[in-house]
Amino acid sequence: MGFAPLPPDPSLPPLRVNLYSDTQTKPTAPMRAAIAAAEVGDEQAGADPTVNLLCERMAALLGKEAAVFLPSGTMCNEIAILTHCRPGDEILAHRTAHISTSEGGAPWALAGARVLPLEGPHGTFDVATLTAAFRPRTRYAPPQALVAVEQTSNLGGGAVWKLAALNDIAAAAHDAGLATHMDGARLMNAVVASGISAREMGAGYDSVWLDFTKGLGAPVGAALAGSAEFIGAAWRWKQRLGGAMRQAGICAAACLYALDHHVERLADDHENARALARGLAQIPGITVELPETNLVFFDTSGTGMTAETLAAHARRQGVLISTMGKFRGRACLHLDVDRAGVEEAIAVLRAAAATEMAA
Ligand SMILES: *Cc1c(COP(=O)(O)O)cnc(C)c1O
Repeated sequence: MGFAPLPPDPSLPPLRVNLYSDTQTKPTAPMRAAIAAAEVGDEQAGADPTVNLLCERMAALLGKEAAVFLPSGTMCNEIAILTHCRPGDEILAHRTAHISTSEGGAPWALAGARVLPLEGPHGTFDVATLTAAFRPRTRYAPPQALVAVEQTSNLGGGAVWKLAALNDIAAAAHDAGLATHMDGARLMNAVVASGISAREMGAGYDSVWLDFTKGLGAPVGAALAGSAEFIGAAWRWKQRLGGAMRQAGICAAACLYALDHHVERLADDHENARALARGLAQIPGITVELPETNLVFFDTSGTGMTAETLAAHARRQGVLISTMGKFRGRACLHLDVDRAGVEEAIAVLRAAAATEMAA
C-alpha cells in the first residue's frame, strides 16, 4: 500500500501519466544546467558557496536566523525532533502526521520520544484538542516537549492550515512551555494556495522546513530553519547521523533553481488538481475529496473495487496512482503532469472503474 517501492515491471506498458507522487519529478534541462554550473566546496566545513547561499535564502524566506541544508525532509523532521526532545519526551501531532506514519518510527527509535496522536479534520487539530491533551507537569507524566504541525497536511488531503489556527496552536504550545515544529514538506503549496507568506505561516514555529523534492521538482534536498542556537544544535545531529556532506552545491543549485522557477507554477498543479477532482467526481462510484492544493484523494468503495484494484487497472493503461487505504486512492499533481495528462488520467480511471462494474 501507499509508498511501496515500484519495481520496474516489463509486462506493463510505459508510464504515460505519473500521478503516484510529486516526488517523482525529473530535473528539467535548465535545472540540470544550473546543477552543472554550480560552484561547490566542502559543505560540512561551511565552504560550499551554493549551499551557503541556499541556507541564507531559506532563513530569509522562512523568517528565521539560520538554516541548514539536509538530504531529505525526513532528516529535517528527525533532526528537529532530536534537537527539541530528550528520551522519554512526548510530541503532540495529528494522528496522520508523517512523523508518526511514514518515518519508520524514527521519533521513537532515534530520539526516544513518542508521538501522542491528536484528532481533527483534514490533518489539523484545534487549540481545545491540543490543550485537552496537555499533561500535568509532574514526575509521573511523560514530559511534553514539542507540538508539530504539517503544512500542508499530506494524509489530510493536502489541506492548508489557516494562519489564525497556526498562530493559536503555537501560542498555546509556548504558553505551556512546549516548543513548536512545522513540517513544511509542501509549505510553498500552502503559500501559493493562500497568498500568505512562508514567513508569516512559520512565525510561531521554532523550527520550520521545506522540501525541494516534492512539487518544487529538485532531485535531492530540504532545508531546516530556526534560531541560530537551534541550527547550531541541529548541526551536531547532522554530523552524528551522517547528514554532513561534501560538494553538496550540486544539489543546492537545483534547489535554488526550484525557488526561482518552480514556486509560482505550483498554482498550475492546484488548478490541475481541481480539474482532475471534477473529472473523477463524475465517475460512477467514485467520491472525491475537494482538493485545496496538489493532492487529490478519492474513495473507490462505490465502484465495488479496492483502490489497489483500480490502481492496477489504470497502471495497465499507463496511468499510475497511489493507494492510501483499502478504498482510498491518491493522485498527486506536479510539474511533469499537464492538463492533457489530467484528461488522459480521467479517461483511463473512468474506463478502469467501469470494467469492474461490468464484471
Ligand atoms: C514527503 C514528506 C516528508 C518527508 O520528506 P522526504 O524528503 O521524502 O524525506 C515529511 N513530511 C511530509 C508531510 C511529507 O509529505
